[in-house]
Amino acid sequence: MEGGLDVDVDGARAVAATAPLLSVRDLRTYFVTAEGVVKAVDGVSFDVDRGERLAIVGESGSGKSATALSILRLVDPPAGHVVSGQVLLDGTDLLSLREDELRAVRGRRVGYVFQDPMTALDPVFTVGSQLIETLRLHTGVSRRQARQRAIELLADVQIAQPERRMDAYPHQLSGGMRQRVVIALALACSPSLLIADEPTTALDVTTQAQILDVLFGLARDRGTAVLLITHDLGVVAATCERVQVMYAGRVVEKGRTAEVFAAPRHPYTAALLGSVVRRDTERTDRLTPVPGSPPSLLAVPSGCTFHPRCTYCDTTCSTEVPVWQGGATDGVSCHLADRLRLTGASDGAAR
Ligand code: SF4
Repeated sequence: MEGGLDVDVDGARAVAATAPLLSVRDLRTYFVTAEGVVKAVDGVSFDVDRGERLAIVGESGSGKSATALSILRLVDPPAGHVVSGQVLLDGTDLLSLREDELRAVRGRRVGYVFQDPMTALDPVFTVGSQLIETLRLHTGVSRRQARQRAIELLADVQIAQPERRMDAYPHQLSGGMRQRVVIALALACSPSLLIADEPTTALDVTTQAQILDVLFGLARDRGTAVLLITHDLGVVAATCERVQVMYAGRVVEKGRTAEVFAAPRHPYTAALLGSVVRRDTERTDRLTPVPGSPPSLLAVPSGCTFHPRCTYCDTTCSTEVPVWQGGATDGVSCHLADRLRLTGASDGAAR
């Protein structure tokens, strides 16, 4: 107790320290189109602990990027808007903040790396001035201190001759170098969470590996949690402790990556795993793409939204929405999860 107040301050601090860094609850993000309402994110919940690395995976249109954008209210209004839910960052509900309060969170407490580096970089300013302005805006350091810190950040992301590169404009850099600058910007103010949305999709395979090494190496060294949005399960296996699988705007399975990948419980997870080229054995003969296409989010199938593509579909599947079996960090949404024995090699989807 402090100051005679009947408040358990130590207890409150202990709870705060053990509570998740990020807690997303029942998030719903809809887009209003001429054809109708697209439920891009439809009741998504998950936690990210301090320093943890969580991947959200799924095909295009699964809602993974919309989920990430919704955390910082970056979905495009007026068509797209977060209609309900809670996004707690260290106990602060980001969805209830004023726009100026949210701007202070972006960059300072949450860094964001987009697929296209030019989304984050301004073409008319040098990379040095953009880093300096970000540092000055969020940390209040002097221009001289910010310049020194900016050079260190460029060195941290392994850009050679960082002092020289300070004067470069984004168009004078390669795609890989630009993404390194974006990572430097995202980590400039030592955020507690880094959101990386398909950060290497636009790059060649060799550069992809280098960029991921830089991103996850720096995040690990600084204790920064990472929320990775990707369709690349090989990257997930190599970088993230936990994984969350999304389909048609909903979470269908989540858990520890090693466990989910070794023994998936949802047929969609198994089908995704079966579609991965086995780089370790260089065998591609078992490659089995997930058949069919993701559903239109304007008219999602009744019952389990995966049922038109699922080998195991029965009458219950097409009429009843499966309930979530599990908690905030692991579980599955499938009527038959307890009965199926899936391997992830080529299992799970209709041929
Ligand atoms: Fe959906 Fe049924 Fe297939 Fe499970 S078994 S994924 S509930 S269709």
